[in-house]
Order: sequence, then C-alpha cells, then structure tokens
Amino acid sequence: MSRFAQHLQFRGRKLRLADWDPGATPGWKGKDGAAERVAHNLERIDVQQYLLFAEARRSLLIVLQGMDTAGKDGLIRKVLTVFNPQGCRVWSFKVPTVEEAAHDFLWRIHRAAPARGEVAVLNRSHYEDVLVVRVRELVPESRWSRRYELINDFERHLHEHGTRVLKFFLHISREEQRSRLLARLDDPLKRWKFSDGDLAERSRWKNYQSAYEDALARCNTRSAPWHIVPADHKWYRDLAVSEIIAETLDQMKLEVPRVKLDTKRLRARLKST
Ligand code: AMP
Ligand code: MG
Repeated sequence: MSRFAQHLQFRGRKLRLADWDPGATPGWKGKDGAAERVAHNLERIDVQQYLLFAEARRSLLIVLQGMDTAGKDGLIRKVLTVFNPQGCRVWSFKVPTVEEAAHDFLWRIHRAAPARGEVAVLNRSHYEDVLVVRVRELVPESRWSRRYELINDFERHLHEHGTRVLKFFLHISREEQRSRLLARLDDPLKRWKFSDGDLAERSRWKNYQSAYEDALARCNTRSAPWHIVPADHKWYRDLAVSEIIAETLDQMKLEVPRVKLDTKRLRARLKST
C-alpha cells in the first residue's frame, strides 16, 4: 500500500469527518516538488494503462464523490486526462433521467462499469443514492438504508470480475466551499457552473457530512476501500490521487500478453512481400 493510501484509508466502523482536516497534506510537506511528482505519476500511469489495455483481462473503476466544488471536475481535467481515451470513459451522474429512474439504482452504474482492459471514471456515482437521496428524503429510509449492503455486494461482484475499485472522497471545508462558490460568481468564465441548488445543498452541510460518514464507513471494504482526500489544496488532491492510482496499477503487475511468433520466418516473409 502506498504512503498516501495508508494515510487516507481509514479503519474501524465509525468515521468522524470532523477529525479529518481538509487542509492537511498527509505524506507530503509543503507544495515543493508536488507538481514534479504528479508529472512522474502521470508517466507511470500512462505506461500502466498501456499494459492494462494490452492485457485485456482486468479493469479499473475510479469513483469520485464530494460536495459541490470539491474538485471532481478539476481532478478529471488535471489528472485523469492522462488516460488514453481509447481505453477510458468518464461518466457523470446527474439527477436520474426518466429511463434511469424506472430502473433499480445500480442499473445506470453497471452500464458504466469498465470492460476488460478499460478504465471507467465515475463523476458522482451510486453513492448519490445514499447521499442526496437520503438528505433530501427522495425515498423512504426503509429503502435507502438497505442500499449500503447492496452497494457492497455490487462492488464485490465487480471485484470478482477483475475490476479494481478505487473510491475517492474529495473532502473540502465549508469555508473553502464558500470561497469557491464566490469565485464562481466573480469569474465570468466560471459563472455557468453556479446553480441556485448549490446554496440549498450547502445549507444542508451537516446532513451531508453525516450521510457521507455513514456511506464511507459502511461501504469501506477490502475489495473497494474509500480514500478520504483532503481537498482544500488542489495540488495535494492531484498528488494524492495520482499517487494512489499509479501505485494500484503497479501492484496489479500488468503484463503485455506473451505471444509465440516465429519472428525469423515472418521477417523473411515481410522482405519478399
Ligand atoms: P453536478 O455534479 O454539479 O453536475 O450536479 C449533479 C446533481 O445531480 C447533483 O446535485 C447531484 O446531487 C444530483 N444527483 C446525482 N445523482 C442523483 C440521484 N441518484 N438522485 C438525485 N439527484 C442526483
Ligand atoms: Mg454542480
């Protein structure tokens, strides 16, 4: 397990997000050298994804969750674009469409699961169905409370298929969210991202933190662990996530398929064609 994974994974049954400082930078001192390290990680990931694709036996699923402005989009733009689009898809999950809402809550997620050799990135995910759905009481507790177990079964099912599941909660402070929302108001280039709904969700901050504590604690399994990424510093967010992805791919010991070719004969044939 990487230094970062060790710092950012948690053990035990109960989680108190108040004990996790969103401005901390565990495993790294100061900003110095962080950009170089991210660049190095991206090179590692590039090589590993090539092997993942060539091997075509296993896959990687990256789940991103966080409050509004936590930096999910920024992380995708700065770090996850490292993935060759030929073997990677990014899926953003919004309020369910009529068709999605007519199915079970995992249906739209399962459709996004990566095929062998591929990477899938989920910008929000099935966890919304125990977060916004719980906080806004979109379904009764008797329904959402059963979902944690269903989620664990689902993720184990993917794991058994050969999918590595990496889950990142981008943890920001309430103050940092205020300043990022203000920036959205101030900057004409960012204003389109501001939605009235953001303020309504922000006013439920405490309820969201509790819902996250339950989701992260109850769905923290060996095959699909959560990482709590302090995300007030964008440079740290990018560093920690790139490091954990690179490390995970390394640990998978990916290899190009071994092929038996009579290269001598094939070379000779190529000469004469
Ligand atoms: P954004 O990520 O800013 O594009 O916003 C997407 C919105 O869709 C967020 O407010 C989510 O809470 C909401 N959303 C995502 N999944 C669900 C769901 N299953 N039920 C209700 N709202 C959802
Ligand atoms: Mg939004």
